This record gives sequence, structure tokens and C-alpha cells, in this order.
Amino acid sequence: MAFASETTVKAVRKRHRCDGCNRFIEIGEPATRWSGMTDGDFAAVIYHPDCRQAEVDMNLHIMGHQYGDDWCGLSDIEDEDRPWLLGSYPAVAERMGFALHTAPTRATTERSARPREANEPLPAPTEGVGETPHPEGGQT
Ligand SMILES: [Zn+2]
Repeated sequence: MAFASETTVKAVRKRHRCDGCNRFIEIGEPATRWSGMTDGDFAAVIYHPDCRQAEVDMNLHIMGHQYGDDWCGLSDIEDEDRPWLLGSYPAVAERMGFALHTAPTRATTERSARPREANEPLPAPTEGVGETPHPEGGQT
């Protein structure tokens, strides 16, 4: 049985380069560490938490449940899978630098402040956004 362990760090104490998006995880930012044996070799990697989620999700849903030496890193994502990443993990896609110019329809530049849960559906675009409660004008 392969050994693997995954831990979440609430705030890293030094700068690391994320193995998913290849950008820095800055001091004080959360991170996900993974270490284990893959195909007989010990590996230890660190990710932004949402990068890790995106990579796991990508392997499960797009690549067809790959793991071990078939595991595909987020940085090796195929061009054709980028729209999926944009739709599911826009913050990750933006961090990796292929956000807006390949986006199919989204015109929003809003960043999502929190990482999306793996199975969380995308919010409906019209859901309560920009809606302000207005007091009735004709009230006496
Ligand atoms: Zn990352």
C-alpha cells in the first residue's frame, strides 16, 4: 500500500513555490502539503489549497480517476481543459495566467475571496448580485 499524507498549513512561515500553479505561496498564506510514495519515489509537494483541490478534481473528473504515476499535475493541464479550470477554479486559473483571454463568456473580473469546495456548484450569475433592498418610495 502506498504511503501518502496530506496536511493543511494555516499560514506558511516561509515562501514556497506552489507545485500546482508554479506561483509563490507567500508568508502567512495557507497551503496544502502532500508527501508520499509515487511509483517507488518519495515526493513532497506544497500547493495553494485551491490549487491542490483543482488538481485532485482535474484528475478525478477530467482525466478519469488517475493517480500514482498517471497523476497529472495542475501545471500540465491540457489546453482543452482550461475552460473547465476557469469555470471551476477561476482564482487558480487566474493565478496561472490563463484566465480572462480564454474565458468563454464570463466578463467578470471579480476574484473569489475563498477557495471553492471541490463539489460546490458555481453560483448562479444572477443570484442576488447587485441587488439592493430599496425602501418603498411612496410611503407616507
Ligand atoms: Zn498554486
